[in-house]
Amino acid sequence: MIRPIVKDKFLLSQKSAPADKNDLQTAQDMVETIAAHSHECVGMAANMIGVLKRIIVFEEGAKYVVMLNPVVKWESPETYVIKENCLCHEGAKEVTRHEAIEVEFLDIRMRKCRKRYDGITAEIIQHELDHLEGILV
Ligand SMILES: [Zn+2]
Repeated sequence: MIRPIVKDKFLLSQKSAPADKNDLQTAQDMVETIAAHSHECVGMAANMIGVLKRIIVFEEGAKYVVMLNPVVKWESPETYVIKENCLCHEGAKEVTRHEAIEVEFLDIRMRKCRKRYDGITAEIIQHELDHLEGILV
């Protein structure tokens, strides 16, 4: 189900709680919602649809990747500064991102995965992980 995008700063600044298999419907809703916003949004955290659980969805190539409880296990010492936009609010904000990261997470089938990302995908994941901590970029 496509859900409305939350713009409430108070809700968006809360830290999200761990997700489990009961949250898979939320993950599915996130995929449908991000697909409906594909012209303006490449990543989404669950709090953007009002659910305070640690779930992110992002575009990778032609598909959407769902991560439950993502944790950064390694980050490159190389960083860069970039201006990012967010669907939840107006205006760009300057942030520092790592060029590459390694993330441990559960996939949509609740399998434990560990994967390395770089470039724009690593940037999107870092942006969505900020959302899980209640950080608004
Ligand atoms: Zn955002």
